[in-house]
Amino acid sequence: MFRSLVLFSVCLGAAAMHLSAQSLPVSEKAKKLQTSSIVIDTHDDTTQRLLDPSFDITVPHTDGNIDLPRMRDGGLTALFFSIWIDGKITGPTAVKRAVDQIDAVREMVRKHPNDFVLATTADDIREAKKEHKIAVLMGVEGGHMIDNDLGVLRTFAALGVRYMTLTHMQNTDWADSSTVPPQHNGLTDFGKQVVLEMNRLGMMVDVSHVSDKTFYDALAVSKAPLLASHSSCRAICNAARNMTDDMMRDLAKHGGVIQINYHVGFLSQQFRDYEAAHPEVEKQIHDEVDKRCGTNEICALTAGDQVVRDFMKEGKLPKVEWTEIIAHIDHAVKIAGIDHVGLGSDFDGAVMPLGMEDVTHLPEITDALLKKGYSEADVRKVLGENTLRVMSEVQKAARDLNSK
Ligand SMILES: [Zn+2]
Repeated sequence: MFRSLVLFSVCLGAAAMHLSAQSLPVSEKAKKLQTSSIVIDTHDDTTQRLLDPSFDITVPHTDGNIDLPRMRDGGLTALFFSIWIDGKITGPTAVKRAVDQIDAVREMVRKHPNDFVLATTADDIREAKKEHKIAVLMGVEGGHMIDNDLGVLRTFAALGVRYMTLTHMQNTDWADSSTVPPQHNGLTDFGKQVVLEMNRLGMMVDVSHVSDKTFYDALAVSKAPLLASHSSCRAICNAARNMTDDMMRDLAKHGGVIQINYHVGFLSQQFRDYEAAHPEVEKQIHDEVDKRCGTNEICALTAGDQVVRDFMKEGKLPKVEWTEIIAHIDHAVKIAGIDHVGLGSDFDGAVMPLGMEDVTHLPEITDALLKKGYSEADVRKVLGENTLRVMSEVQKAARDLNSK
C-alpha cells in the first residue's frame, strides 16, 4: 500500500481487459518460462476491494490491476493479499478491521475452492501450482494492527498470516517508520520481542516502510532472513522507503530478499521531483477522480491510478514506463545478488507505470530479463524461487526455535 501527500488514496488501477491486448509481444521462450515457473507477488492490495460485497474477483474487471482471469493470463502462481488499514487507526479498532480483512480473504478462498487455495508454506505454493490453483497468502501491512499485544500477533499467525510489515507510514509504539520523524531510534525492546516472536511463529519479518534504523535493528535481532515485501532501490529513486545499496547488501548477507515495487513514485526520480515541485497536481488528481466517480466511493478506490496514468499520457506528469521496473530489478541483482531479488508489485494499492496496467503484463518482465541476458534459472529465482527459499528458511528457523 502506497500513500503519498501528492497522490492521494488507495490508488487503484484501471485497466480494461481489452487493454491487455496492447501487451507487448513476448517470446515463446518467455511464455514457456512464465507458465512453468512459480511466480509470486508478495504485495497486493486487492483485499480492500474484497470488502465490497458486490466485487467478484473471479470475473474480469475493467478497473483495478487484479482479478482471477487476469492473474491466470499473467501466469501468477501465488499472491500475498495485504491486510492494511491506515497507521493512524490503532487500538482495538485496528485489530477488528484487520480481522475483517483476514476473514474477507479466507472467505474468498472458501467460496472458490477450484480457483484458490490458502497457502502458508513454500510447499503449499508448489502444490497449488500442480493443482492449477492460485495460492493465496496474507501479510499484515503495519505492526499497529497487533495493538501492542503478542497474543494478537499469534492469532494472526494462526489465521494464516505469513508476514507482518513492522510499520506502515506512521511509527508504531515500538518501531519507527521511514516516512515520519523517528521516536524510538529504531525498535524498542518490545519491538525486538515482536521480531523474535514472529521468528518463532514462522512469520516473515517485513522491512518495507520501516526506517533505516528499524531495518538494522530487525536485522540484528532476527533469527531468520528478512523480507522487504514491496521496496525498490534508493540509488535510482530517492524515496525514504526504498532501500540503499548498503541495506540491500546487508539484507542479502543475512539471506533476505527485496521484492521490487512497481509504484511510479518509487521507480522514477524524475516523477518524484516533479511531484515535489508541483504540489498543485494533487488537487487536479482529486478533482478528476471526483469528476469521474462523484460520490461513488468504490469507483474512487480504483480511479486514482488510472487518472495519474492518463495525466502522464497527456503530458501533465512525467511519463514513467514499465521498463523502470526492470532497471530496479537489475540494479538490485547487481548489488544484492541474483538470489535476493523478487517481485512485490503493490497492485491495487499504488500507481502502476505505463505498460504495467495490470497483472497480465507480468510475462513482459520475464521476456525483458531474458533479453537482458539472464539465464532461465536466474529469471525463475526472481519470479518466485527466492521467495520460496526465504519462506523455507523462515519455517526452518521457527522449527528450531520451537524445539529449544
Ligand atoms: Zn505499502
